[in-house]
Amino acid sequence: MVAGRYLVTGGAGFVGSHVVAALLDRGDEVVVLDSLSTGHRAAVLPGARLVVGDLADDELVEETLAGQPWDAVLHFAALSLVGESMADPFRYIGVNVGTGVRLIAACARHGVRRFVLSSTAALFGGGHSAPIDEDAACDPGSPYGESKAMLERALVWADRVYGLRSACLRYFNAAGADPAGRLGEDHTPETHLIPLVIDAALGRRAGLTVFGDDYPTPDGTCIRDYVHVSDLAAAHLAALTLLDRRSLRYNLGNGRGSSVREVIASVERVSGRKVPHHIAGRRSGDPPSLVAASGRIIAEAGWRPRHTALDDIVRTALDWRAAHPQGYRSSPSA
Ligand code: UDP
Repeated sequence: MVAGRYLVTGGAGFVGSHVVAALLDRGDEVVVLDSLSTGHRAAVLPGARLVVGDLADDELVEETLAGQPWDAVLHFAALSLVGESMADPFRYIGVNVGTGVRLIAACARHGVRRFVLSSTAALFGGGHSAPIDEDAACDPGSPYGESKAMLERALVWADRVYGLRSACLRYFNAAGADPAGRLGEDHTPETHLIPLVIDAALGRRAGLTVFGDDYPTPDGTCIRDYVHVSDLAAAHLAALTLLDRRSLRYNLGNGRGSSVREVIASVERVSGRKVPHHIAGRRSGDPPSLVAASGRIIAEAGWRPRHTALDDIVRTALDWRAAHPQGYRSSPSA
């Protein structure tokens, strides 16, 4: 499995760029296809070849796939904001399902044997008090989650009809940053909790708005499973090793929930600074608790998260944001 050739769509984004780094670190050849609409040129490490273009450009996808054998295609490029998908559902379903299905079909035509889909805990909707395993009912709470569910179904048929094996990896809350400091999290606008709390601690924003403290959880704030992005990257490599045998579906998290208040306390401990915050109303669509049961990938692929402590995850994120006050715009190669 070493020194393979991989095509990574969306490899300039947060999770994609960390997966590219993990592939490069073990000596693989990587081509990234990314429109740079939300990704960053500086997030593609120099060892990878970057093709800038849109997945909706069928000719470009065809050209990129043609000619070379691929060990796998890893598909990250997608619209990915739950709130935005509620406001514009058919754009999300149209873009994510349309580009994803055409990519899967192109992979089948070009004889690609292995495909990895960046999927999501948003498949499961709300109402889960216990950790969520792969047998939980798929009941997306948003058009974003629905678009990934539809692609997971399309991949069932790609396997049955064309023998294209797939790993659908449902991330819970991807967080942290490359421990070597090469990569981090940079969204515009930033909507994710950990970078927002860090920026509040560093005085880069007025303070944090906590979306609700009246949830049925021990401290009243929402509970999420924050999993380190480099652990997620390692899970992709682990899943690839099993894909010759059969298609896979794995839930990926730390298996431990942290509340919004616990995240604030962690950032205060790690940064040594207070996080100004105030309580506001709930954000629409937020389930009280989402925690992964990741036993299946642990048992089958030998994967295990290494950065299990919230403080450790927060520390890597804090280090990157402190060194990159403008995100990737602070990188020399940006
Ligand atoms: N959250 C918050 N204030 C913010 C952003 C997020 O209280 O400014 C909460 C949000 O309601 C959720 C948790 O933090 O309970 C994680 O949110 P995030 O957007 O990072 O990830 P999600 O779980 O929505 O994918």
